[in-house]
Amino acid sequence: MKIEDISKSLGLDSKAFDRGDLIVKSPIDGSVIGRVQQATSKDVSRKITQAVDAFHHWREVPAPRRGELVRLLGEELRSHKDALGHLVTLENGKLLQEGLGEVQEMIDICDFAVGLSRQLYGLTITSERPGHHMRENWHPLGPVGVISAFNFPVAVWSWNSAIAFVCGDSVLWKPSDKTPMTALACQHLFERAAAKFGDAPDHLSQIMVCGRKIAQAMIDDPRMPLISATGSTAMGRAIAPRIAERFGRTILELGGNNAIIVAPSADLDLAIRGTVFGAVGTCGQRCTSTRRLIVQGSIYDDFISRLKKAYASIPVGNPFEDSVLVGPLIDQTAFKGMEAALEKAKEAGGVIWGGGRVLDNKYPDGFYVQPAIVEMSGQVDIVREETFAPILYVMKYDDFEEAIAIQNGVPQGLSSSIFTNDVREAEKFTSTAGSDCGIANVNIGTSGAEIGGAFGGEKETGGGRESGSDSWKAYMRRSTSTVNYSNQLPLAQGIEFDVG
Ligand code: NAD
Repeated sequence: MKIEDISKSLGLDSKAFDRGDLIVKSPIDGSVIGRVQQATSKDVSRKITQAVDAFHHWREVPAPRRGELVRLLGEELRSHKDALGHLVTLENGKLLQEGLGEVQEMIDICDFAVGLSRQLYGLTITSERPGHHMRENWHPLGPVGVISAFNFPVAVWSWNSAIAFVCGDSVLWKPSDKTPMTALACQHLFERAAAKFGDAPDHLSQIMVCGRKIAQAMIDDPRMPLISATGSTAMGRAIAPRIAERFGRTILELGGNNAIIVAPSADLDLAIRGTVFGAVGTCGQRCTSTRRLIVQGSIYDDFISRLKKAYASIPVGNPFEDSVLVGPLIDQTAFKGMEAALEKAKEAGGVIWGGGRVLDNKYPDGFYVQPAIVEMSGQVDIVREETFAPILYVMKYDDFEEAIAIQNGVPQGLSSSIFTNDVREAEKFTSTAGSDCGIANVNIGTSGAEIGGAFGGEKETGGGRESGSDSWKAYMRRSTSTVNYSNQLPLAQGIEFDVG
């Protein structure tokens, strides 16, 4: 699909991707695919005012009715899945299957949020005072700022906004400046849904395409009670103290450094498939990509030789081609990051298999690489860093406790998994004394989370939770109400305070 066809299928006007000064290039071949208008600081301030106005209207709409808007958004996504999936692949470079899968994830979270719109439950609590009722109320919070990364250019917006809309909040989205066209497409689909809905307030959903400097205006504005930010740990480190300074809330979804442990009892066929998908899928550019492999010594040689064999057969190429399993890196900076990491690993004694640039004759402006396996004798500094590229560091362990210590011995805490058929190991891994990550899987890889669970991680991953389970609570404010229906005024904790 060409960009003109995608734009037409989405119902966008012919100039939608041809206005403004931000030039967008496809990572597939470096060709220019669009020009997008960027917001100024003044625009940001105006948009926040509009988001506040929209919130004041929207919070009064009953939650199940708010769910109807999200249902209509889900319908728009269903009807335009193919076009939006193609646009994701064109702008971000992930495989078409993954682009379509990302849109499916948006549809799934809309379905989830529609059900949630009738389940924003609070507790009733027994009061210690006679003649009193106590309960929790969940109220809409305010305008929610969403910052998203290039690697999930549309799903992250939907995880946040589908939930925020049913919770009664307005949303102001700053997408990655590497993927603004998919953001424009999402905003357009939202507007179509809002037109069908009828009486949604203007500016309930807005986007601002801008760099980090302009985004500061949103980060620092006290009218934005919650900023949900997805991206690198460096980004989280820069914005979190500023938001904390004004007592704003954050949901931080930051970098990961995810590991798989392969135990001697594991089904090795499953473990190979889980490892390969986790490590090379999306060209190693998922927050949950497998970056470390911890293999028990007795199966190490066999497992690594099978893994190298599997890697040798992986087709790298244009992500629109059916047979391809690994597409390009997002840009040259990402490629240089991969090169530098491999150099450091080599200096630290790592033995490298693969890793070079490929297809540069065919795509001189695209950055395709052969995924790398690096055997390390220990968890040195470079292994403890997240490099956003398909590098898999492999380490050996003797006993299970050592494997858990290696798995937990990094600053990040997003996703983890173990392949084992030993029930004790599996249960220990998911127990208090096991993995310290937000995601701890058994006999599946580290990537490919479902929307039904709360998504996020610990330590430098930021501690935020998005998507399913009770993550919605972060998008609302809670009040506890005690109602006295008696004609006495007993005080809590038995305190006597008689006046007159
Ligand atoms: P990035 O940190 O470079 O950018 C992410 C977003 O933050 C972009 O919109 C960017 O413009 C913005 N940004 C960066 N610095 C900022 C600042 N100082 N002020 C305001 N905005 C700022 O990340 P990226 O390269 O786009 O994405 C890859 C990173 O995202 C990886 O570290 C990956 O692990 C992480 N990620 C995490 C999750 C998760 O759920 N934990 C999901 C996807 C990606």
